[in-house]
Amino acid sequence: MSRSIDRRGEPLESPDSAAWHNEAGRPMAPGLPGLDARAELALLARILFREGYDENLAGHISAKQPDGTFLVTPYGLTWDELRASDLMRVDLENGKVLEGKWTVTVAIELHVELHRARSDIGVAVHNHPRFATVWAARHQVPPIYDQTSTMLGGPLALLDEYGGGVRETSQSQAAVRALGDAQAVLLANHGVLVVARDVRQAYLRSIAVERRCRIAWYVEALGGGTPMRDEVATVGGRMMDENGWPGSFEALARRELRRDPSVLE
Ligand SMILES: [Zn+2]
Repeated sequence: MSRSIDRRGEPLESPDSAAWHNEAGRPMAPGLPGLDARAELALLARILFREGYDENLAGHISAKQPDGTFLVTPYGLTWDELRASDLMRVDLENGKVLEGKWTVTVAIELHVELHRARSDIGVAVHNHPRFATVWAARHQVPPIYDQTSTMLGGPLALLDEYGGGVRETSQSQAAVRALGDAQAVLLANHGVLVVARDVRQAYLRSIAVERRCRIAWYVEALGGGTPMRDEVATVGGRMMDENGWPGSFEALARRELRRDPSVLE
């Protein structure tokens, strides 16, 4: 691979530099235009909307920036209409809005508690995707039945008691405790929280969680199946989680750009 996407989300020198290449230098697909942190996060929101993170105004994403502030999705916009300029900049020490034309969720408390407890987290995604919410309602972590579901790359935790929405400080703290050092946590009778190092890892972990919950629902609706062996799921999942699924975020980002190039504005 001669040149990969700039993982810091900083502008790239030219569109071609964003293309993934094989070892012979042949590009896998057309490159993306240069993406700054806002554009990358807006694309993440739109991609996840198509992948089931789509419940009305329920979701919010926070992304840590190099200056210690956080970009946060605004409360009043759905993820499929979000543009880069809609993102809010917030000081998560005190929840104060520093920049942006809209409002932030009252559940910002969840992100405050989360980033305070886990300095390794760069991006946190919360929403109520349908199949994750089904398993959260069942208070059960679904087995892994297929390869894509392994791409969470580590444990899926469970908070098995619903104590009110994540706007409540005590519930936010309970969610963070239940998450521990896992990659994601199902929140009983509510939804899911996924954490990651950066936008691309957040993308893959988020789609892996919902995929795992969806496939397990189908398999168990058939009467049950055979889960993957733990060691196979763990080895393959960790490798993909660490290195990413080459070209995958970029492919879905191109789809969003075809649908609506104004996402970058
Ligand atoms: Zn929620």
